Amino acid sequence: MESSNKVILKNLTHDELRDYIESIGEKKFRANQIFSWMYKNAITFDDMKNISGDLKRKLSEVADIGNIEQEACFESKIDGTKKYLFLLPDGNIIETVMMDYSDRVTVCISSQVGCRMGCDFCASTKEGLIRNLEPWEILDQILKVEKDIGKRVSNIVMMGSGEPLDNFENTKRFLKLVNEEEGLNIGYRHITLSTCGIVPKMYELADMQLPINLAISLHSPFDEKRKEIMPVAKSFKIEEIIKAAKYLISKTNRRVTFEYSLIKGVNDSKKEADEIAKLLKGMLCHVNIIPINKIEESNYEKPDKSFIYKFRDELESKGINATIRNSRGSDIGGACGQLRRKYKKNLI
Ligand code: SF4
Repeated sequence: MESSNKVILKNLTHDELRDYIESIGEKKFRANQIFSWMYKNAITFDDMKNISGDLKRKLSEVADIGNIEQEACFESKIDGTKKYLFLLPDGNIIETVMMDYSDRVTVCISSQVGCRMGCDFCASTKEGLIRNLEPWEILDQILKVEKDIGKRVSNIVMMGSGEPLDNFENTKRFLKLVNEEEGLNIGYRHITLSTCGIVPKMYELADMQLPINLAISLHSPFDEKRKEIMPVAKSFKIEEIIKAAKYLISKTNRRVTFEYSLIKGVNDSKKEADEIAKLLKGMLCHVNIIPINKIEESNYEKPDKSFIYKFRDELESKGINATIRNSRGSDIGGACGQLRRKYKKNLI
């Protein structure tokens, strides 16, 4: 919880902050004021108006609030989606996306700088994993988006760069922080965590019994084909993933989503739809079909519209609930990780 020997206050829950403030010889109620300023996006201790000069000086010697900085922001002319590049204290850059629907504001956050999972269609993994994000760095993406748009964020999807279950300890703490009543107070039911299927961590998550939404990247119902698309499939078979998903449903009674990136000529045939239907029969789940976003580093292409609808109808006809995800912000670097890579290469 410390960086350069200073405690990062945004890594602490409200109770932990009270204990910390007491441990440095201050009255506990000071923690309430500090906590409230942190969630009002105070950048420095000087921004905390009702804190004495002495305490500000003391705090700046031993603690940091924990702030990431907005490096760039791109707004879609098509649907108003905003994509942010945030600068971390060590100079790394991460990508965050804000989607403003009429009834909710959803933010897609990153959990790692880069990713080591190697999914073939994904720009985030092309340079491997650079490092895990700290809990406060995951949290602060939401605070900085709120500051920029002047609105509350209602929903979170952990679908940006990184595999949240590969940074599980920090993800767990982030989930606790984001749910804090006096903080962002975002309910677990409004949080979706996406995983490529790290089975042991799925069981651990299930045992936490949080009513969050789990999205599992399937991308093929056949192990051999899945291994070609996502190397993590070499470690965990589909059968094991389905078993873990069923366990999670039994613990949380929450519907699981299977993400299916639809790739022209690779996984978009009737054979695949039939097998998915067999695999998921009777499960409390739904399939989210994501027509692939083309990235420069891969030859994969989006299927024609008629194929996309046919695939959905095929699943629906076999009793599997399926939807097609609308790609938002396609004019500002649609696929995850694309914007960051282009920015780093000075292409935008
Ligand atoms: S899709 Fe997700 S898990 Fe796969 S490489 Fe990209 S960021 Fe990592």
